Amino acid sequence: MRSQDYDRLYLSPPHLGRHELNYVHKAIEDNWVAPAGPNITGFEADICAAVGVPYCVALTSGTAAIHLGLILLGVGAGDEVLCPSFTFVATANPIVYLGATPVFVDSEADTWNICPVRLREAIVDRLARGKKPKALILVHLYGMPAKLPEILALAKEFDIPVLEDAAEALGSEWEQQPLGGFGRVGVFSFNGNKILTTSGGGALVTYDRALAEKARFLATQAKDEAAHYQHSEVGYNYRLSNILAGIGRGQMELLPERVKRRRQLFDWYREHLAGLPSLTVALASEPAGSRSNRWLTTVLLSSPDPENHAPAPTPEAVRLHLETRNIESRPLWKPLHLQPLFADAPRYGGEVCADLFARGLCLPSGTAMTDGDLRRVKEALTEALE
Ligand SMILES: *Cc1c(COP(=O)(O)O)cnc(C)c1O
Repeated sequence: MRSQDYDRLYLSPPHLGRHELNYVHKAIEDNWVAPAGPNITGFEADICAAVGVPYCVALTSGTAAIHLGLILLGVGAGDEVLCPSFTFVATANPIVYLGATPVFVDSEADTWNICPVRLREAIVDRLARGKKPKALILVHLYGMPAKLPEILALAKEFDIPVLEDAAEALGSEWEQQPLGGFGRVGVFSFNGNKILTTSGGGALVTYDRALAEKARFLATQAKDEAAHYQHSEVGYNYRLSNILAGIGRGQMELLPERVKRRRQLFDWYREHLAGLPSLTVALASEPAGSRSNRWLTTVLLSSPDPENHAPAPTPEAVRLHLETRNIESRPLWKPLHLQPLFADAPRYGGEVCADLFARGLCLPSGTAMTDGDLRRVKEALTEALE
């Protein structure tokens, strides 16, 4: 029975504003419904302005952007790419598309992102085995900035180019500088669950004009300059349509207020869930000088207490209880080194993110949530933990 779906609280549903339809309407009126047109140019300019990076290429997905980004960094068959274990599979799949191998690195406990200590260990060990990692993928999970100074210093010391997967971190900042512009290539996602959405879409940003031109070329079937269809290398069909870019333009107008609201939701949860037993709102402190967009609010349940015979609540028990109240919650990303797909991939550490996965849960964090919705989540959590 679907009778209750009208009041289902989703984790992070799309939240449209007032102007998307204007841009889409204009695209249809003007017959610009192809993967070219003024909305694409406008959307790319909006992203450049928001991220403070000169070049942007709008693409069909964040995954496509990672795929092209790795090609731009020269990744090919037989190469190794450093990648956090604690992330969504889309971060690592494009490594495999290229016949390369992901080398997984554990998280640190403060930000949950790639651990600089483990990262150095991984680089030194790969070098000792005779293979220099071709690239490093940096992820800012749940919008929380990774430890950029330490990680970028390592990338520089060992001369490894960085691809910044900022799919979850649009609107997050380090020292007033927006995330996405710290690597040679940066990637955003406009999938339906992200802070802004085009229904499905992505973008690649860079300071390097030649890389941007190459990305645009590869995304349009690598068609050479010629009146006839001439091709010298393999290409892809990865350009965003002008219609979806219209949704993107309307969404980009809303970025500051969407970040503000996600941060308010996080602060509400932190304040109002403080008294609950066995549960803490996670990632409470942002690294000095940084600001998370608080894409999703996450909580951690206490580890089982050997002194106490009462069974510790599991995230799955809590999730199932919220489900009976028609509230969607989700486990944290399952670490990639624990995925059957990557069972054979090399890894450095893994215990930190495995523990987070065992104890964590993502709470509804959509920007259209009301204070009444927040109270509903709190009530259901209280019931689950009693
Ligand atoms: C969503 C996401 C992606 C992929 O983006 P799509 O637009 O869904 O292809 C990549 N990396 C991370 C960390 C993500 O959360």
